[in-house]
Amino acid sequence: MEILLNEIIENNRHLIKNGKVADYIPALAKADFEKIGVTVAGRTGALLYSAGDYNQKFTLQSISKVISFLVAAMDNGIEDIFEKVGCDSTDEPFNAFTKLDLPNVNKPANPLINSGAILTTSMIKGNGDEKFQKILELTRRMAHNPNIGYNEEVYLSEKKTGSRNRSMAYLMSSKNILEGDVEDVLDTYFKQCSIEVDTRDLAKIGRFISAGCEGINIDGISRTDMSILLKGLLFTCGMYNYSARYAIEVGIPSKSGVGGGIMGVLPNGMGIGIFSPALDENGNSSAGIGIIKELTRRLHYNIFDDRKLQVEIDTH
Ligand code: GLN
Repeated sequence: MEILLNEIIENNRHLIKNGKVADYIPALAKADFEKIGVTVAGRTGALLYSAGDYNQKFTLQSISKVISFLVAAMDNGIEDIFEKVGCDSTDEPFNAFTKLDLPNVNKPANPLINSGAILTTSMIKGNGDEKFQKILELTRRMAHNPNIGYNEEVYLSEKKTGSRNRSMAYLMSSKNILEGDVEDVLDTYFKQCSIEVDTRDLAKIGRFISAGCEGINIDGISRTDMSILLKGLLFTCGMYNYSARYAIEVGIPSKSGVGGGIMGVLPNGMGIGIFSPALDENGNSSAGIGIIKELTRRLHYNIFDDRKLQVEIDTH
């Protein structure tokens, strides 16, 4: 498996030059655009197959939206969440919010774009740092890694330059969509985006979702149904406005972040984590997309590829 992963990294390395490291959050501009790492998490705890810069740390950014959504759902129940936020895929960029200003629009499209994520974070119960601590705690649990923390420099950098996120949060507050102290909510959001992981953590988070979200209790929905819902949400909304094409070309529930990470929920209790910080025009990792495309095609992991059942990860 490691040989295959190394080969796939090399086949896709050239895609780095089509991308650009995110610089709208100044601290992210420092990322080394040449780094590429991959980890596939097999079905059982110990099985991790890694290649390249697999242990390079980077920030979760939008991938944290999956985790804050789960925490908000645990705190409120799933129905309350979907009363406030939609589950519709969107053809707009992740940080768009003009539609939210239309008189008849009272919900962000889904919890995986910035406006929807800021709103779900606002629904997490707790004061001050409690909301963030819950998100961090669940991240550690999903990744089986108690050492996960956050990057203070990235957090402060985004806090300082986050006018766009601030604008959409205050707009939602003005329409009574978002309740509570707007600056507190934004602070939690900026911090959750700055949680630092490597590809092994991401792969294990993918495996956690694939294997059925063990230990997650949410009112009104069984754990299995929650895992199914989450996979559907990631499949339709996880890659911003590239989600539909990605669903066709890659065919696995995934979430990307502008830190260069892609977390994929592979079939059958497996997960994948990829890191390469040069981003395409949609804010997705350029080489990361190429890598996951080649991997899912070669190993038949696309959920619509019936041959996948014949492929056992351990035989590679
Ligand atoms: N922290 C980033 C932001 O709010 C997250 C966006 C992303 O990863 N797409 O702009």
